Amino acid sequence: MAKAPRSNHRQTPGAPATRTAVTGAFSEIADAETTPDSAPGGTLYLVATPIGNLEDITLRALRILREADLIAAEDTRVTRKLLAHFDIHTPLTSYHAHTAGGKSEALVEKLQAGQNIALVSDAGTPAISDPGAELVAEAVAGGVRVEPVPGPSALVAALVASGLPTGRFVFEGFLPRTKADRRERLLMASREARTTLFYEAPTRVRETLGDLAKVCGPERRVVAAREITKKFEEFAHGTLAEVGAHFGAHEPRGEFVLVLDGASGSELLASQPDDTPTTEALLREAMARGQSARDAARDISRQTREPRNEVYALAMRIRGEVAGS
Ligand code: SAM
Repeated sequence: MAKAPRSNHRQTPGAPATRTAVTGAFSEIADAETTPDSAPGGTLYLVATPIGNLEDITLRALRILREADLIAAEDTRVTRKLLAHFDIHTPLTSYHAHTAGGKSEALVEKLQAGQNIALVSDAGTPAISDPGAELVAEAVAGGVRVEPVPGPSALVAALVASGLPTGRFVFEGFLPRTKADRRERLLMASREARTTLFYEAPTRVRETLGDLAKVCGPERRVVAAREITKKFEEFAHGTLAEVGAHFGAHEPRGEFVLVLDGASGSELLASQPDDTPTTEALLREAMARGQSARDAARDISRQTREPRNEVYALAMRIRGEVAGS
């Protein structure tokens, strides 16, 4: 018989309310009865915080931050300012990308011991291009109850105000730094029918708009959403050529989300005959046949005319993945 999916929800509808996760006017009252495989313990709250305008914090976020036993923050200095603004005095601990490994385990132990912990990042929703996914995975694996406390996220704010289709979209996060990976990802985006969103640093906006124009063509529509919810909020709409020219003339400042229109039917058709295998696919095939990373990179860089060092870097990454799997 198929095993029932594990639930970490402890509430039994209709049963007398005896235990409160974190109290408050709108809180769900959890029941003392537990499902057989969920240990009684604390809750991990993923609390979204403003991406600029402090009025965007939710009432529930404020209550959870006030009532939690501990707040785990990406940068305690940033979160301390937010807490000071709202007169919240909950103890803080740091949880950032570099310490995530060992720290997750320690936090899960605290949760299992009954503490309620709120995870926040510097801005927006934790675990979206921010630390958190690993902690959530470990908490779930450890039978800990995890609750989202939804609120701002730059990607949703940019998408909904962009004027581009919102029905289906792809979130790419930040583009990779290495040239070969970046090129691969841009190429994939150019062949994507859904709206695609990128996070981008102001120092790279011009380059990325230029690269997108090269792979998608200068006429593809794009919206550069800048400083959302802040004083200098701007939504620059136009074709890749137009928005690229705008930021050629005005230095890109602040935080950016790029929202790229999906490829049209005719663009998709035009890209279809090109069924040339990607460099990555060629490398994987060659290495699966037993060729060394060095030899495969040499042969394939000759074939594709890509710089050998870039192809070699990609080969090494594939070798690392295979060794690690
Ligand atoms: N977790 C956050 C979220 O939910 O949006 C994202 C964190 S990620 C480290 C930071 C990136 O998000 C920035 O580099 C920028 O691309 C985007 N971003 C954050 N706040 C923004 C804002 N107010 N306006 C535009 N983009 C923003």
